[in-house]
Formats: sequence, structure tokens, C-alpha cells
Amino acid sequence: MKKEKKAIYVTQPVLPPLKEFNEFLKQIWDNKILTNNGPFHQQFEEALASYLGVKYVSLFSNGTLALITALHALNITGEVITTPFSFVATTHSLWWNKIKPVFVDIEDRFYNLDPEKIEAAITPQTTAILPVHVYGNPCNVDRIREISDTHGLKLIYDAAHAFGVKINENSIANYGDLSILSFHATKVFNTIEGGAIICHNAAMKKRIDFLKNFGFADEETVVSPGINAKMNEIQSAFGLLQLKTIDEAIRKRKVIAHRYRELLKGMNGISCLFDIKEVHHNYAYFPVLIDQEFYGKTRDDLYELLKHNAYYGRRYFYPLISHFPPYSKLSSASSENLTIANKIADRVICLPIFPDLEISEVDNICQIIQNQ
Ligand SMILES: *Cc1c(COP(=O)(O)O)cnc(C)c1O
Repeated sequence: MKKEKKAIYVTQPVLPPLKEFNEFLKQIWDNKILTNNGPFHQQFEEALASYLGVKYVSLFSNGTLALITALHALNITGEVITTPFSFVATTHSLWWNKIKPVFVDIEDRFYNLDPEKIEAAITPQTTAILPVHVYGNPCNVDRIREISDTHGLKLIYDAAHAFGVKINENSIANYGDLSILSFHATKVFNTIEGGAIICHNAAMKKRIDFLKNFGFADEETVVSPGINAKMNEIQSAFGLLQLKTIDEAIRKRKVIAHRYRELLKGMNGISCLFDIKEVHHNYAYFPVLIDQEFYGKTRDDLYELLKHNAYYGRRYFYPLISHFPPYSKLSSASSENLTIANKIADRVICLPIFPDLEISEVDNICQIIQNQ
């Protein structure tokens, strides 16, 4: 009997060595501190700040609550300019703050917010820009900072995909007034669920830490209607161990990405992204674009074909956020306003990439793509 091929998904989480995790669990069982800024939480925050090369880290129970809290921390109101080409949580964080999202189109090199189209979308109600480093590739951070400074806007980066990414050795999380990370199981670095806000001064870190703990400044003082978004001790211990292997994990991702590029190079109707010299990439995703005219099949045909062979790619980010209720009725959600985003969303597929993916699987996937 032919053995059923094991399904390969778009990603697979990295887990810490069970033995080391058990030792940490033992410490938690002994000291009986489970949450509320315990010893593992404190160690993990410090270790993360040092690993990333950022000043202040505030850990969160997930990236979405980090985004929601970041907007609240800066008192953002009115309208915020953002990208439709992202995971839906980016725009949901605005909705939860009663902020109106204003979608601006993306550029066609890395599919990030197009800086040249931002200014036309600014109105007297605009208070901030919320770009995403999509797939972990840096936005045009210099140009976007220039625009936000000129117009007096706050700048918050959704860096959920960009863990470990650096521009000229400087962490991408240092850009913007605040940057948000996600440590969800599907991300490059995971604490099962988790996230963080990166900020640049002690007063802001204090405000964020109050907000994620119901707004408590001390036992008797509540500074704001805060939320509960704390990371617990078990996840912090898990994260602390993950830091030991993250560099190796990114190195393995790089080998896989380069193998894909080598094999897909020159294939008709298939295009991949590329590395930028000054950037330390994290290879969080491996998106390819399918041009039906030259490839002969649509993106959805290829998606089904791979599935048939037990390779589960994902059509990130299709549909666009602007196509989901309650955003689809906004005037900025129109397809005329978002031509490039619509074009990319219709053509993109993310192929499997994770540190333990065998090179032979990459070769198989490329064979299937080539032979169709
Ligand atoms: C994963 C993700 C989030 C949300 O993070 P969670 O930790 O899953 O809440 C936000 N933005 C983007 C771009 C993401 O990919």
C-alpha cells in the first residue's frame, strides 16, 4: 500500500527543547508565580531588548492587543492611514479604538504602503500612519518618517512579520513612535501566543505597562481604562528558550528561500522577491506571484494543485482587508484606489517555509510548479 504523504503546511512552529522547558516549569511550580510581571517575564523582556537591540520592550499576551493598546497609548483618534495588504488584525486594531481606517495602495516591489500615495489621503482628521512591514520586508521607513513629521502625524509600525529584521544593523523595531511584534505560533519567533510593543523612552514604557494591566499605576491608582493583555510566566519561560535558537532558525529559513529562488528563477510567469543588501532579512514568508498570461494557470489553479500533492500554501493576503466587513463600504476601499493591492492579492501565493522544512520538499514543490 502506498504510504500517504505527510501534509506540509505553509509554516510549522519551532519549539524549545522539552527538557530545558521542563526545568523552567519546575521553577515556576516551586515559586508559584504565574503572571503579573514575574521573574521569567522580567528576564524575557530584558533578553528580548538586548537581542533585538531596542531600548524598551513591553510583553503582551498577543500582537492584536499590543496593536490596540499602542493606538490607545498614543491617544490616536479620527482617521489613520493604513495598508489593505496585511492580516486583518492590523485594521481591526483601529476599529476597536473607534478610529476610521483610510486605505492607501501598496507599491509593487515589496507590497508595502506606497509612500508616494500617503499625502493625498491625509485630511484634517488624520492623526497617524499605521504601515506594516509585510512578509518582514522593511517599508520605506525614511520617506514615511519624513511624511509623518511634515504633517505632525504619529507613526506606528505593525512589525508582526519582522522579528529580527535589521536595516544597516539597526533593528526594524526601532522605527516609528511605536512598533508592534507578534509571537503567535505561525510567526518567525513564537511564544505560542504573544506579542510586544517596542518604545523608545521610559515614560512611554511605563504608560504601556499600566495600560496592559487594567491601567493600574499602583494598588490604589488607575490612570486609564486599561485592558488585561499581560504575558504569563509559562509563555515568558518558553520565549526565553526560543531566543537561544532564533538565529539558527533564521539561517535555515534563508537557505530555503535561496533554494526556492534558485529553482524558480526564469520560470515563465513566476516571480519572487529578492534580498536588499543593507537588510538582514528574516524570510518569514515565501510569496510568489503567478502571472496567468505567462504561466498558463491561475494562482488558484496552482494553490489547488499543490494542495492535491499535500503542500498547503496560503494566499496571504487574499482577500484584502478592505474587502471584509465592516471596511468594504469605506470610500478608500474601492478597487480604483487600491489597484496594485488588488492585483497582488489576486496573484500571490505563499509557499511553505519553516526551519525544519527539508530541501527535498522545496525541490518537489518547485517540480510541481514547473511541470504543472
Ligand atoms: C499575526 C499578525 C497580527 C496579530 O498578531 P497576533 O499575535 O496573532 O494577535 C497583526 N498583524 C499582522 C500583520 C500579523 O501577521
